[in-house]
Amino acid sequence: MPELPPCRSCGASELHLFLSLGDVPLADNLLRPEALQELEPRFPLDVAFCPRCCLVQILEEVPPQQLFVDNYLYFSSFSDHLLDHSRRHAERLVEDRGLGPDSLVVELASNDGYLLRNFRNRGVRVLGVDPAPAQAQAANDAGIPTVAEFFGTDLAKRLRDEHGPADVVIANNVMAHVPELNDFVGGIAALVADDALVTVENPYVRDLIIHGEFDTIYHEHFSYYSCTSVDTLVRRHGLYLNDVEYFPDLHGGTLRWHMGRTPDVSDTVSAYLARERETGLTGFGYYRDFALTVERIRTDLLDLLGGLRSQGASIAAYGAAAKGSTLINYVGIGPELVDFVVDRNTYKQGKFMPGMHIPIVDPQVLLDRQPDYCLLLAWNFTDEILRQQEEYVRRGGRFIRPVPVPEILG
Ligand SMILES: [Zn+2]
Repeated sequence: MPELPPCRSCGASELHLFLSLGDVPLADNLLRPEALQELEPRFPLDVAFCPRCCLVQILEEVPPQQLFVDNYLYFSSFSDHLLDHSRRHAERLVEDRGLGPDSLVVELASNDGYLLRNFRNRGVRVLGVDPAPAQAQAANDAGIPTVAEFFGTDLAKRLRDEHGPADVVIANNVMAHVPELNDFVGGIAALVADDALVTVENPYVRDLIIHGEFDTIYHEHFSYYSCTSVDTLVRRHGLYLNDVEYFPDLHGGTLRWHMGRTPDVSDTVSAYLARERETGLTGFGYYRDFALTVERIRTDLLDLLGGLRSQGASIAAYGAAAKGSTLINYVGIGPELVDFVVDRNTYKQGKFMPGMHIPIVDPQVLLDRQPDYCLLLAWNFTDEILRQQEEYVRRGGRFIRPVPVPEILG
């Protein structure tokens, strides 16, 4: 085993490896038909724990340009649940903070402007930052001014010079995407006014471990956070973790951290930090056996799908998301088990899943071909998908959820 790199947050050189998912292709690198004959680049995917700052992280660093610019097809606006969640968040911030035309709300990884448009519609000044060109273009076209660059300390200083300090900074599901973590958080600290509120959302590493959500691990996700690791990280940059909210149904269990330049630590934060210590989440023992959990999911899922196939059943899958790619590549689910993957995102239709080369088609095909079973690769949107696919179920179709334990629903 070669020497492990230093911790991405605190720089300690004592990372403990606890899971290897093998050599896998980049999860968002969906293939056009003409690319199927070409050799796909593969990268190892190894996960480690830092005993000093408690950050869980992958060891590999694929260049961000390759991850988020060249092939990035995630558009937030394709999920109704996410749009709802964002609208509620924005409306509450406008009320609570008394935001108006003189305020500035900056969102990092603002995607197609799905969240910022809620502020703009209330007359608040907004600015988006997102390096993905298609998404930034879509936002600009929709009247949400968006800078198509990677965020860091240099850009933060420039934005502050041009637009003034931010009153609210929102960073949802992006802190995991950042290899240069300290440059990113330092940038937030440089961008905000003294009384500003920063809210950061990210899946909770506790839920990843206890619910077996190994498929949320992929090369785009450099880090997996707890309150302890976030608290340590932001304090290094003069920010304080002051409050925390929990959304059990968002991306398999998401935390929203409230931060600011002034310490005002709530009882909720203290309780989270205490519970993380008490449950052992701040020690390596919490993670040591996770590889066994993941192996068991692989065996059980292959048994389930293989068994159904041998009885003559047809199987499709739902959701050509990055987590679906991790799942099928690690478990080894190819076209011999799953005929096609459906996805609402029109940018993905007509392409093929990385590594396993399963075709991606419009969700309508689920009704046209009525496969007996449908594997929920996008299990984080289970309720939303089940509502949209009532007709498929009414005609006898059954969904399969892969984690925490593979099971046929209904
Ligand atoms: Zn560390």
